This record gives sequence, structure tokens and C-alpha cells, in this order.
Amino acid sequence: MSLPVPTQATVYDAAVVGIDATEMRRYAVRSPASGEIIAEVADCTVEHAELAAENAQRGFESWRRTTAFERAALLKAWHRAMLEAKETLALTMAREMGKPIREARGEVDYAAGFLEWFAEQAKRVDGDILPSQHPDKRLSVLRQPVGPVFAITPWNFPAAMITRKVAPGLAAGCSVIVKPAEQTPITALMLAELWREVGGPAEVFQVITAERPAEISDTLMADARIRKLTFTGSTPVGKHLYAKSAATMKRMSLELGGHAPFVIFDDADIDAAVAEVMASKFRNGGQTCVCANRIYVQRGIFDAFAERLAAAVDELRVGQPEDEATQIGPLVSQAGRDKAQSHIDDALEKGARRLTVARAVDGLFVAPTVLADVTSDMRIMREETFGPVAPLIAFDSEAEAIANANATPFGLAAYLWTRNLGRAARVSEALDYGIVGVNDGAPSVPQAPFGGIKDSGLGREGGRYGIDEYLDLKFVSTRLDG
Ligand code: NAD
Repeated sequence: MSLPVPTQATVYDAAVVGIDATEMRRYAVRSPASGEIIAEVADCTVEHAELAAENAQRGFESWRRTTAFERAALLKAWHRAMLEAKETLALTMAREMGKPIREARGEVDYAAGFLEWFAEQAKRVDGDILPSQHPDKRLSVLRQPVGPVFAITPWNFPAAMITRKVAPGLAAGCSVIVKPAEQTPITALMLAELWREVGGPAEVFQVITAERPAEISDTLMADARIRKLTFTGSTPVGKHLYAKSAATMKRMSLELGGHAPFVIFDDADIDAAVAEVMASKFRNGGQTCVCANRIYVQRGIFDAFAERLAAAVDELRVGQPEDEATQIGPLVSQAGRDKAQSHIDDALEKGARRLTVARAVDGLFVAPTVLADVTSDMRIMREETFGPVAPLIAFDSEAEAIANANATPFGLAAYLWTRNLGRAARVSEALDYGIVGVNDGAPSVPQAPFGGIKDSGLGREGGRYGIDEYLDLKFVSTRLDG
């Protein structure tokens, strides 16, 4: 790959066909760990968005006519190229978003997994023949690509949130324009470069970078040629885009915020439960939409669980993202850091107890924290924290745990730990969430459906279901002559 890992104001262009880079305005991307500028990236405008839409329409017309086998072969080649570029991509993610390098390598594997999975699924887009009550009629159902797709992605998984959308879109025969988060454009540009290197048509997958997302988005949302929006990000922005989509009646997939409960029953293996809570809560510094945000522990094991979790959290190594030993890096932005810290401060002011050491940290770092005596009036119990803070709440009965877990407008992921098979089935069925982890704090895999209900969004990504979001059904009724 010829694109360099960002260092001290490396300059990048947008991956939009026909763009004139000479007059291009640029914006600075900073390392959240050091605060230094690491890149200058194209700051695209309305006219670039219009150009991208024209390209995407042209790209769609030819791409839709390729066979599923051709599309699968390209996606497989892209998958291999991504794995070959693993170290470059991982280092780029560590620099632009502050993800610890070992986790960043894991993200490359996870992200590439969607390319491989949907390369295989491309060949499974089939149709149906329906019975007819008329002897001279033949009824069939075709599944056809929806058309050019606009994808808006967040910064917390700079590679995987792109491949989870682009791979099913391309596999189905759609063209895709990605607008990555302004904090993490470089990984996205690298993915576009790898796509072109393996022979992928440049008009079929484009990346439009911009510091102010709204003007790009407004242009593409108003463009009737764009037939679908797929968005991962916060619930307020998702709702705003949902309303905007009405004007051009776009298909929508919305992967929005969460407020995941993790319920630990008193029959749990405490050490195993601590390990799964750690995996769920502290991955990516707590900056994932499926991170546990409320940890309910049954009263009989509350003290033992709290003590062991706090000890494990005190062992977490906070440090520079590129350091192999680092487990917790900085948060992505000042706003993100301030929000997580304010959740800790608000809880402590209202009577919560800090069970972990109050480590001194600076810059965008937040000390990993476990809080006990948390009550429902604290902000952390209602708002998504997106930081390394674990609030613990005691409960008595199964019914109380289910009611507490469901008492939120969100419905993305929920977790429970029990060795009781009946309880595992009862509680997982009663939880109002799109994803449930039973004794499993990290359930996401490319072959499973990912997505939520209520304020957590619409539609599913991944699995054999993910490609349906990029396909329209067409019913063909044929009357035979004679
Ligand atoms: P955000 O909504 O501010 O930004 C997400 C994306 O939307 C970015 O690309 C941003 O540029 C763009 N955006 C922002 N305002 C826009 C506007 N007015 N018009 C068009 N695009 C706009 O979210 P964030 O705070 O950067 O990301 C974190 C959020 O994403 C969290 O709430 C998290 O739960 C959610 N998230 C959800 C999933 C999921 O799959 N459900 C995955 C990761 C993150």
C-alpha cells in the first residue's frame, strides 16, 4: 500500500474519482494521545459530494451487471490485501483514534472478516419461484441491489464499521460512498486504496472526507440517486437522518447508541464473570456501543464480585496506544474525555463509592474506575458513558434484574452471567435487546446479526441477514403466450 502511516501532518486526498486535489481545503487530524497534528486531510464540500454521487450512479450501472462470482473474487482479494496490510492499518488506528495497538490488530482481523463473509454471501443471493393458481402464469421473486448507498461511520472502529457496511453493499451489487468520522479518515482512505489495488472499480467504493459532516450529508441525503443510507453513530444524529430520509424515501439502516446492562446472578463463577465484564466494559477504553454501561450484581455475591473486579481494573495498564503493553489508551476527544469524567464526578457527588485507585492521568486519559452504591438518579445510569467506568448496582430477584435491565430507551446489547440453564433461557428471552451475551461479554462476529431495537436503531448488519438491507425484492409475474 502506498499510503503512509500518518506522522506529523502527512497529506491525504479524498478517494473520490475526478476530484481536483490542487485547490482542496484541508483539515488537521490530531493524535488523541499526544495532541499533535498527524495528518492534513481533504475537507470536501458540497460539490465534491455531488461528484461522488454522479460517480456512484455510474459505478452502480456497471457493477450491478457483474456476476456474484466476480464480486466475490474481488472481495476475497480485498480481504487478503487487508490482512497483508494489518500492521499499517493497526498502527494508523492507534495514531488517529488512540486504540491500543493489540486491540487495533484484532480490529483488522474482525473488519477483514466481513469482507470474507460477504464474499461468500454474494453467491447466495438467490430468488424464489411461487406457485400460481393460473396454469399460464409463472411467478418469481428476484432480489436486486437497492442502488448507490451512502454510509456514515463513527470513529470507534475506524475499519470494522466500514467493512460491515461496504462488504454487504458491494456483494449485493451496490456502489458505496463512505463518509468516515472526521477523527478517523485515514484508515478509511487506506481501505479505499487497498480496494483499488486489488482491481476494485474506483467509482464503486469512494471515501469522502470532511471536517463538517452536515453539508456533505445534506447533499447526499437530498440526492434521489442515493437509494440507501446506512449510519452508525449517536442516536440524536440517527434520528435527524431518519427524518431527512423521508424526502427521497431512502432505505435506512441505523446502528445507534446503547446502554448495555450486564446482570450477574449469585450462582455465577465470579472470576469468569469478572473476566467477561472486563472484556465487555474496558475494550477500546469503554468506547464501544455494546460496552456494559450498568452492571447489576445479585446481593449475595456483590462484595466479592466488586472486590475482584476492582482489583482487576487496578491492574489495567494505561498508556500510549502504540505501546504493546497498553490496555487502556486515551479517549478520542476532549468532549469524550469530559463526558466520561463528568459521569464519575456526578456519581461521586451523589454518593457513589470509588472502589479503584484514583490514578493521576492527564490529557485525554481517564483513570479506569469501578463505582459502587450507584443509584438511578446518577447520569451514568441514563447516558452512554463511552469511557472506562464501571458502575455496580446490587439487586435481589430475577424479576427485579430484568425490569432494571429493560428500563432504558436503548435496546442494543445486554449480558448476563449464570450457571442456571433455565434462568439463562428465561432472562435472555425477556431482555428487550437486539444482542444478548449469556456468559459472554464479547459476542460480535461477522456471521451473526448485529443491531438494536428502540432508540438503538433499525436493521441488522452481519450474518446472512446483513445483505438483505442492500437488496430490494422484485416480483415478476409472467403470463405465457398460447
Ligand atoms: P456521531 O453521531 O456524532 O458521529 C457519527 C458519524 O456521524 C460521524 O461520521 C460524524 O461525522 C457523523 N455526523 C455527525 N453529525 C452529523 C450530521 N448532522 N449529519 C450527518 N452526519 C453527521 O457519533 P459519535 O459520538 O462520533 O460516535 C459514537 C456514537 O456511535 C455512540 O453513541 C455509539 O453508541 C454509536 N455507535 C453505535 C454502533 C452500533 O453499531 N450501534 C457502533 C459504534 C458506535
